[in-house]
Amino acid sequence: MMKKAVSWSGLVFFLFLLVGAQGCAPRTHPGYPVQCGGNTRTDGNYRSRESFPGPGTPGKSGGARVVEQCPIPSSAPRTITHEVAPLETVWRIARMYDVKPEDIYRANRLRPQDPLQIGQKLVIPNAKAIRHVIALYPNTQWQYIVIHHTATDIGKAFSIHRSHQDRGFWNGLGYHFLIDNGTLGKGDGQIEVAPRWIKQQSGAHCKAGGMNEKGIGVALVGNFNLDQPTPRQMESLIYLLRTLTDYYRIPPSRIVGHRDVEGAATDCPGRRFPWATVRSCLKPSGMARTP
Ligand SMILES: [Zn+2]
Repeated sequence: MMKKAVSWSGLVFFLFLLVGAQGCAPRTHPGYPVQCGGNTRTDGNYRSRESFPGPGTPGKSGGARVVEQCPIPSSAPRTITHEVAPLETVWRIARMYDVKPEDIYRANRLRPQDPLQIGQKLVIPNAKAIRHVIALYPNTQWQYIVIHHTATDIGKAFSIHRSHQDRGFWNGLGYHFLIDNGTLGKGDGQIEVAPRWIKQQSGAHCKAGGMNEKGIGVALVGNFNLDQPTPRQMESLIYLLRTLTDYYRIPPSRIVGHRDVEGAATDCPGRRFPWATVRSCLKPSGMARTP
């Protein structure tokens, strides 16, 4: 029942973007406009359906909500194989592909009580185009957003998780969100939600300025000293930034690059990171919103 509404509003919104968002295209990808927004739908009852700890903020136990967006043009449903990322659940994976959890259980001969393993391959029958599933938890901790690059050509949450573990980062994957670039089997522009976000833990991404405690760490796969993010990564980034800044009331001036935090000795997220696109898409008058 949602499908029809989403696809029609998506078409209208896409046409609007073609007219209104040309200014957001990164220079290295002419002719591919970066969307300054997207279709969203929200849903409550998140914590009751996802079986891991809620946010650990004493006295802030109000309900989280889930925002979903389908950023990639829809394609015919097909059977795919999904590799389980850190802390992913069948519930989350079902939302990502717009399928029923029961169908995933059945296709993989799983029972609801069976734990998923990181790296486990799951068959997803009739998977739709992957969508972002972002949970928003009431938490006054988040006052900044710190943007990073992975400084690698390829990556996904699982591989960065392992490399951060090897580097001794507390709890592995140091960011809260990772935006993939279409390598290692992940979608171009796919937003992977890290366990730290689901558990509402501080980050391990920027010690300077106390940003691990007050900053949401968002990383894009790539090395932006050499290259720029893909258009779909930028669309997803803008969508994620807008979602987070709206919910946590973070002003655009508090979206910073790792290198811009006082005391951080790094060039992350890279000298070629397209800040102009971010600023242009996030300035209040330039926002293209869906109702
Ligand atoms: Zn960084």
